[in-house]
Amino acid sequence: MTLADPARPGRIVVAGGGLAGLRTVEELRARGYAGEVTLVAAEDRPPYDRPPLSKRLLAGEISDTTLRDDWAALDVSLRLGETAVGLDGAAAGGHGGGRETGGVLRTDRGEHGYDRLVLATGATPVALPGPGPQRFLRTLDDALALRERLRPGLRLAIVGAGWIGAELATAAAARGCQVTVVEAGDAPLATALGAEVGAYTAPWYEKAGVELALNQPVASVQPGGLALAGGGWLAADEIVTAVGVRPAVSWLEDSGIALDRGVAVDEQLRTTVAGVYAAGDCAAFWSMRFNRRLRTEHWDVALRAPAVLAQNLLGAAEPYDPVPYFWSEQFGRMVQYVGFHGGADQLVLRGDPAGPKWSACWLSGGVLVALLTVGIPRDMAQGRRLIETGAAVDPARIADPDIPVRATAAD
Ligand code: FAD
Repeated sequence: MTLADPARPGRIVVAGGGLAGLRTVEELRARGYAGEVTLVAAEDRPPYDRPPLSKRLLAGEISDTTLRDDWAALDVSLRLGETAVGLDGAAAGGHGGGRETGGVLRTDRGEHGYDRLVLATGATPVALPGPGPQRFLRTLDDALALRERLRPGLRLAIVGAGWIGAELATAAAARGCQVTVVEAGDAPLATALGAEVGAYTAPWYEKAGVELALNQPVASVQPGGLALAGGGWLAADEIVTAVGVRPAVSWLEDSGIALDRGVAVDEQLRTTVAGVYAAGDCAAFWSMRFNRRLRTEHWDVALRAPAVLAQNLLGAAEPYDPVPYFWSEQFGRMVQYVGFHGGADQLVLRGDPAGPKWSACWLSGGVLVALLTVGIPRDMAQGRRLIETGAAVDPARIADPDIPVRATAAD
């Protein structure tokens, strides 16, 4: 069966009402798909955007990030406040042979039969042990509640100097809070960028009046503060835990769908179960470009993968093979990252990391595989194209900020 056949339009169910889920529905309709579409969304709100939550919303510039309000045009059965809990009738066995697919998505409110199912349940924050109250910054409600609390003099402890911790620290310091960021690793952003590059961002904290405690694991969250590993204590009025997220896939554990730090999907975004696909933060997709499975937590991936996914739901066999892209706005800087540096064997700095504009370039066998830019969108645009084409670069030339990135290809 091909769902593009108007005589048998079929039923598509999407689990997860975030950006990836919404974009999947939009892309299906944009391609003329006329069958039934159901969007099962655990939150009570229609889909909204998350990146502004830790930026413009915390800064008080906006209070709502809802992504669309003309739902009638999408003709989707929008099931807000409904949580998917399991699958029935999903048979493992791949996607070959044109065999019939389909099954039933079970939720806390009932069942939805499908011909094709999309998993787009995103990710949820990791909590720390301990009986004390801890906040997170994942949902619109989290952000609105947090913003209410960010008043001058508030002693705010943020656990984790990752992307979210840095953006929250930026906003809280600007609102006059006394901010301490407690980080187990030896540099901010060490998980995302490696300690060497992450360390260049440490002075940004001090300059913003934010205390940064490195190499300081937290033992537990207690009423009134953090119990630190090694016996220390950090008193705090509010504690926000920002130590990372986990893909929201525990409900799939008995489904027969292979999980590998997320829903394992191939380069066509197909799970191991026929008719079931996944995209966004919950999906670990096979990257042909980097020859490994990648699970990104990138807005750009949640935005763009659904275009490929929708084609495949309708019968195509298109690969999704992006150069992943991420940005962050922290301490008055625009920080952008493109590529994947997991297999890199050389790091080249471009410009002075103590200054306002610089880049870090990761090479693998002389080929540019990833690029971080601070305050230089032009380097980002040019570097992205080099990474896309798999270009080898001359390390000496790319280290020179006076030579445009596009002109650094090796002879
Ligand atoms: P989600 O946005 O997590 O949406 C999944 C939805 O599914 C959620 O609403 C969830 O409630 C729902 N759900 C979960 N389980 C179930 C279930 N069982 N049944 C039904 N529904 C379920 N990325 C960048 O590239 N740049 C940034 O600057 C940036 N800033 C960010 C700032 C913040 C505060 C946050 C939280 C994220 C940021 N991101 C950023 C990451 C980006 O927002 C995510 O990559 C993107 O939202 C992923 O979209 P998604 O649809 O896959 O998942």
